[in-house]
Amino acid sequence: MSGVEHVTVIGAGVSGLTSAVVLAESGVRVHVIAAEWPGGNSLAAGAMWGPYLVEPRDKVAEWSRHSLEVFRTLAGDPCTGVRITSGVEASRHAVAPPDWATTRPGFRPCAPNELPPGFRTGYRFEVPLIDMPSYLGSLHRRLLAIGATVAKGRVTDLDDPDLGPVVVNCSGLGSRQLADDTDLRPIRGQHVVVANPGITEFFSEDTGTSTDLLCVYPHGDTVVLGGTAIDGREDLSPDPEAAEAILRRCTTVEPRLAEARVLAHRIGARPTRPAVRVEAEVRANGRTVIHNYGHGGAGVTLSWGCARDVHLLSAGRSQAY
Ligand SMILES: Cc1cc2nc3c(=O)[nH]c(=O)nc-3n(C[C@H](O)[C@H](O)[C@H](O)COP(=O)(O)OP(=O)(O)OC[C@H]3O[C@@H](n4cnc5c(N)ncnc54)[C@H](O)[C@@H]3O)c2cc1C
Repeated sequence: MSGVEHVTVIGAGVSGLTSAVVLAESGVRVHVIAAEWPGGNSLAAGAMWGPYLVEPRDKVAEWSRHSLEVFRTLAGDPCTGVRITSGVEASRHAVAPPDWATTRPGFRPCAPNELPPGFRTGYRFEVPLIDMPSYLGSLHRRLLAIGATVAKGRVTDLDDPDLGPVVVNCSGLGSRQLADDTDLRPIRGQHVVVANPGITEFFSEDTGTSTDLLCVYPHGDTVVLGGTAIDGREDLSPDPEAAEAILRRCTTVEPRLAEARVLAHRIGARPTRPAVRVEAEVRANGRTVIHNYGHGGAGVTLSWGCARDVHLLSAGRSQAY
């Protein structure tokens, strides 16, 4: 399969758009087809770089490291929606910092008087925050600028002859039907978007396996407040009680949010799997399908690393890691 000239990418979430950009910019002719444009689950993300509850560990480390490098570069252009932001991840218990945080610039433990009431430990560091509507828009523009073609539509069969000889499957939860994958499940998440009352630093709580999360992600004029993680649910209408509770939790740690105007509710379902699936499959008809789905709560974090593997697999090479 070396020297592949034409690839169809299924899906226009962060996985599909990033894979399409990497392939198109390497000289491959790319066509993207997606039922929903851009993918709503990707639009709903907060989004902070951070490998959060995903496997396989060794690949996740390398995928996220590569993505971090790319996000650092993208942060140089404000139109991308990527900003390197300083802030605090804290816990109400005595906990060690997450491994991935300790190597971030500016990493240091917080003094007790730097933490909101009720918190026992906290760590300050810098990470990329990604404003998903702006970011997905910038990936879309980048794709069109290089001559890729895009279409709205639902694929019902990975063996459909119209898809061409090489297909990249980035359909997220759609792979339950498309790839008959019974390992995939949704974890519903809800965010409230408010007008920014002047917040420039992120705050997130290490909430372990709780269904109630707490995060405050400033993106210029807006702040994304979270959140929830409800296993097995994928209904996408806003839950007013959950929104109230999110505002209450976030206002407790950041009182300036008390009067902030609510602009939107964003809801998505994390496409979760015991391990992210990035691999090539040769179908009975000889077609190669490269799967790239199942990124759970870390699809943005892993996107550039996984897209790089998709590119290597499309050129007939094994993964980089
Ligand atoms: C509330 C919330 C907060 C999050 N926060 C973060 C965070 O801070 N950091 C982070 O890294 N990640 C975060 N995530 C996780 C991240 O958003 C996901 O892992 C990521 O969006 C998955 O992207 P995807 O492109 O694989 O799937 P999706 O975004 O679900 O896109 C799938 C695409 O495939 C299309 N599709 C599906 N089936 C078909 C079909 N049969 N035919 C054609 N098209 C099809 C869909 O229409 C869509 O375009 C969060 C997620 C949520 C919900």
